Amino acid sequence: MAITCVRCNSDRIAHVDAKCDLCLISILDKERDGYVPDDMGIGGGSVVTLVYCMECGQMMGKFPLPVSEMEKDKVKAEEPLDKGLIENLLKGI
Ligand SMILES: [Zn+2]
Repeated sequence: MAITCVRCNSDRIAHVDAKCDLCLISILDKERDGYVPDDMGIGGGSVVTLVYCMECGQMMGKFPLPVSEMEKDKVKAEEPLDKGLIENLLKGI
């Protein structure tokens, strides 16, 4: 049974299953190459899996996704070095 687009109801749905030797991926200011991340909705390991609508561009899948490991790295980088100091400053000490 063919699926239809959740946005435009078109049946022009493309399924991509690819084996990937080198996956370059970027999000926010992070960039990484190597294996396909398994927490970004595009497969994982050495496999890329995409399903999208060729009519409107809508990507199919379960979204929103939880924060990925790459994004968590970004959050860590932006955390203040000394949270206690910042909290004391905010208290007026
Ligand atoms: Zn569509």
